[in-house]
Amino acid sequence: MYNPKSLKAEEFINHQEVLATLKYAEENKNNLELIDQILNKAKQRKGLTHQEAAVLLDCQDSQRVREIFNLAEQLKKDFYGNRIVIFAPLYLSNYCVNGCVYCPYHFKNKHITRKKLSQEDIVREVTALQDMGHKRLAIEAGEDPVNNPLEYILECIKTIYSIKHKNGAIRRVNVNIAATTVENYSKLKEAGIGTYILFQETYHKDSYEKLHPTGPKHNYAYHTEAMDRAMKGGIDDVGLGVLFGLELYRYEFASLLMHAEHLEAVHGVGPHTISVPRIKHADDIDPNVFDNGISDDTFAKICACIRIAVPYTGMIISTRESKVIREKVIRLGVSQISGASRTSVGGYYEEEAEDDKSEQFDVSDKRTLDEVVKWLMELGYIPSFCTACYREGRTGDRFMSLCKNGEILNCCHPNALMTLKEYLMDYASNQTRPIGDKLIEKELDNIPNPKIKKIAAENINQIEAGKRDFRF
Ligand code: SAM
Repeated sequence: MYNPKSLKAEEFINHQEVLATLKYAEENKNNLELIDQILNKAKQRKGLTHQEAAVLLDCQDSQRVREIFNLAEQLKKDFYGNRIVIFAPLYLSNYCVNGCVYCPYHFKNKHITRKKLSQEDIVREVTALQDMGHKRLAIEAGEDPVNNPLEYILECIKTIYSIKHKNGAIRRVNVNIAATTVENYSKLKEAGIGTYILFQETYHKDSYEKLHPTGPKHNYAYHTEAMDRAMKGGIDDVGLGVLFGLELYRYEFASLLMHAEHLEAVHGVGPHTISVPRIKHADDIDPNVFDNGISDDTFAKICACIRIAVPYTGMIISTRESKVIREKVIRLGVSQISGASRTSVGGYYEEEAEDDKSEQFDVSDKRTLDEVVKWLMELGYIPSFCTACYREGRTGDRFMSLCKNGEILNCCHPNALMTLKEYLMDYASNQTRPIGDKLIEKELDNIPNPKIKKIAAENINQIEAGKRDFRF
C-alpha cells in the first residue's frame, strides 16, 4: 500500500501508486481546466504533488507547454537568481564488485584499467583541481568493500580537506558512493561532507533488479532506503537522481517526486539536490541498447517540470551533456554544473594513455573551467564557487528556510560575487577577468540590504588586496 511516511521502499515508491499517477496524467493530459489549475498552484511557488507534476509532464497543448517553460524560468530566477554553482567530480577508485549493466565499472569488465588513488595521487589530483579554481568536489567511487572500504573514503576526504596549494582549498566535499549503513553515514557526516548523493538509477523494481543482476547493489530496498539511513546517520543534505534512459521517463519522474515527498514527510526536509544524468557511451557500454533514451526536448521538459514541482531543490547537470543542452536547461532550472570534468581515476593530473583507460563515461562538454566561467558570464550568469551554507551550518531545513525567506539575495548573491572575485584573481585568463570584474561591479548593486552591500564591496576590495575566504 502507498504510504509516503513508510520507511519501506515498496510503500513510499509504490508501484501501484506510480501506475495510478501515470494513468491519471494520461487521462488528464488534455484537461486544460485542470492544467490551468495546476499551473496556478505552481505560480504560488510552493511546489506540486507528484500527480500534479505528472499531468504537466504529459501535457501536449503548445500554449500550456510554453507556460510550463516560462514558469520554470521564472521560478529559477526567483529562487536562484542568476547564480550557477560550479563543482568537479573526483574519481577515487573504479574497483567495483557490482554488475550494473550500464556502467563500465561492472566487475566482469576485464579490459578497463582498474585504478585507485593513493593519498599521494590525491594530493596531485586535488592540487590540479585547485589550480583550475575548483573549491567544491563530488567524490565518486565504485563499490568494493576490500579495495574501497569506508575507511579509505574517509582517509581521502581528510586528505582532500588538508591540501592548501597557493590560494587554493577544497571547501566542500560532496560524496557519491554506494548505499551504506547508518553507522557509515555518521562517519561521513563526522568527516565533514556536504551532500550525500546517490542516484537511484531506476525506481522500477523489476527493471532495477535486471539492471543490477549481481553484487550488493542488486538489493532494491537497501538502495532505495539509503537516504533514510543517511538522514538517520545525521546527514542533512541528500541528493537524488535517476539515470534517464534505463526505464520509461514518466515512471522515473513520478517516482523521483514521490521520493522527495517521502523525505519531506519523514524527515521534514526534501532532497537538497536532484541530478538528471542520461546514459552515455562508455568503454563497453553502448547507450543505444537501452530502449528508453529520451530526446533533448523531453529532457528539457523534465527539467522544467522538476523545477516547478520542487522549487527549493537544487538541480545538477554534469558534463555528460553538451554545451548546447546545458545552456538550455540552466535557464529552465539547473542550479549547479560541473566544469572541466574528468571521469577517469587520476585524470586531472595526467592524461591517460590509449591503452590505460579508466573513464566511467564519455563527457560531452570538454571545455576548460575558464571557458565555462567565461561562457556563463557572457550569458549573464554569475559562476559561484560558494560553499558558505554548509560551513555556516545552514544545512537541511535551515538552508530551506533561507530559500523560503527570500534571504538568498542578501546571502548567496554576495557570497557568489566574493568567490567569483577569488577565482578571477587567482585563476582566470586575461580574457575572462575583465568580464568578471564588470559583472561583479554591476551585480553588487543588486544586493538589497545596504549594510551587506557595503561589507561585500569591502570584502571584494580585500580580496583584490590578497585576502581570501570571506562569507556571509
Ligand atoms: N558506485 C556508486 C553507486 O553505486 O552509487 C557511485 C556512483 S557512480 C561512480 C556515479 C553514477 O554514474 C552512477 O550512479 C550512475 O548513475 C552513473 N553512470 C554509470 N554509468 C553511466 C553511463 N554509462 N553513462 C552515464 N552515467 C553513468
